[in-house]
Amino acid sequence: DASFPYARSAHDNRLLGGLLSEGFEEKSCSSRYETFLYRRNPARRPSPHLVARLRRHEELQRRCGPNTDSYNRAVNRLRDGGKVDAAAHAPEDDRCKYLVSISYRGLGNRILAAASAFLYAVLTDRVLLVDRSNEMDELFCEPFPGTTWLLPRDFPLASYANFSADTAESYGNMLKNKVLRTKTGAGGDASGAQLSAFAYLHLDHDYGHDDKMFFCDDDQRLLSNVQWLVMRTDSYIVPSLFLVTSFQEELDALFPERDAVFHHLGRYLFHPTNHVWGLVARYYRAYLAPARQLIGIQVRVFDRRQAKSPHVLQQITSCAWKEKLLPEVLDAEETPAMPTPTTPGANRSKAVLVTSLRPWYYERIKGMYWERATATGEDVSVHQPSHEEYQHFGEKSHEAKAWAEMYLLSLCDVLVTSGWSTFGYVAQGLGGLKPWVMYKPANITTVPDPPCGRDVSMEPCFHAPPLYDCKLKRGTDTGEMVPHVRHCDDVSWGLKLI
Ligand code: GDP
Repeated sequence: DASFPYARSAHDNRLLGGLLSEGFEEKSCSSRYETFLYRRNPARRPSPHLVARLRRHEELQRRCGPNTDSYNRAVNRLRDGGKVDAAAHAPEDDRCKYLVSISYRGLGNRILAAASAFLYAVLTDRVLLVDRSNEMDELFCEPFPGTTWLLPRDFPLASYANFSADTAESYGNMLKNKVLRTKTGAGGDASGAQLSAFAYLHLDHDYGHDDKMFFCDDDQRLLSNVQWLVMRTDSYIVPSLFLVTSFQEELDALFPERDAVFHHLGRYLFHPTNHVWGLVARYYRAYLAPARQLIGIQVRVFDRRQAKSPHVLQQITSCAWKEKLLPEVLDAEETPAMPTPTTPGANRSKAVLVTSLRPWYYERIKGMYWERATATGEDVSVHQPSHEEYQHFGEKSHEAKAWAEMYLLSLCDVLVTSGWSTFGYVAQGLGGLKPWVMYKPANITTVPDPPCGRDVSMEPCFHAPPLYDCKLKRGTDTGEMVPHVRHCDDVSWGLKLI
């Protein structure tokens, strides 16, 4: 029997099998080095190529990041509108290229966006700089030793946070207005075109046809000549990066297990700051560590009328019972006749961690396991750290609780999640857990049948993928192009890695 703190196989060590770098002061970010003691579920092992590539990328972030001469020169060039020709006669370090990732929408969206931007930065040898909006600077430790990933406050494109589909410098608009052209010269590079100092990549879920050309090889070649890219996405765009031919070989080498991409990127990038880690660690030790098995249930309802929905409650319990994740409860009449024998030393308890904006589901489930005996005699305790009632945008304590709860879910043995929710995607990926997904009901008075199903992988779903074949230049089903990129169970047009 596992007893807390847990330490399992050789690669479930403090550096997570080489995923993490040695170069940090431990006290500045305790979670980075303590997480492995809290994880019951063995993690996947990162490939040697991924480990080597991360160390190389850290070196790039230090060499070209904020407070370096290269960064200052690149920023000056951006300020001058790119008048100094970047490609010609530049000293070696002036070839530093940058990707700025805008942070907006909910925490789950922001985490998936930053992970996507990071992978794209690694694939294209760009320095990743993250916009610090929405507490991004307060929730996460710095991921790269000896430098910062936060975009400096004096970044010259002052209006970047308002960039939208209408921004003239968006890649889509520049294509449409022929400011940029693919296939200008032999090899399709941008030699004939006047390159702008930056391009804005509008990859938000509402993006248009021209913006989606980002996912084509010719366009990637063109973009590789632009020194500054600013990306806005609320999605996990990674599955579609796996369909870009020029990235495929490298992605195969980095991720021989394609269903563990976010698992590795997430555990590499997102470490709760000490304040958030306190919330996680205290809660875990007090309420969850004593149980033999931990079941995480993430209840995310997208309709206000479902704050107290008997249908959703029925969906949760029938999922947990049908899949034998939790013991069923006996009828009220049977309960008194079934006193559970107390066996010393036999820990048969299960703890349920409910996360939800509302308290109602937790109260019902907890009441049920108190008032009734279980058919198996197991004891079931039920816990919910907070109920914030609604999403408070940009409020510090709210964001910290959301991050702590996502993280606590990732420490469970088993997960039941709500389909469509990026909050659940992050938890399942960090935890290396293939969840049982509760499908979104067709309307608020029906219970889906079946209530839930086992997901095909722990990867997040990309909710807004392009459905376009770059080579044939026509629409296509991108869920049918390669065996490891498939449609999602919860969002039928979405794409996920398996
Ligand atoms: P999604 O909307 O489900 O895809 O997830 P996001 O994380 O992007 O946005 C939902 C936001 O609502 C979260 O970031 C939190 O701020 C809040 N939220 C949703 N569910 C919970 C929950 O179970 N616990 C807490 N503390 N906050 C939640």
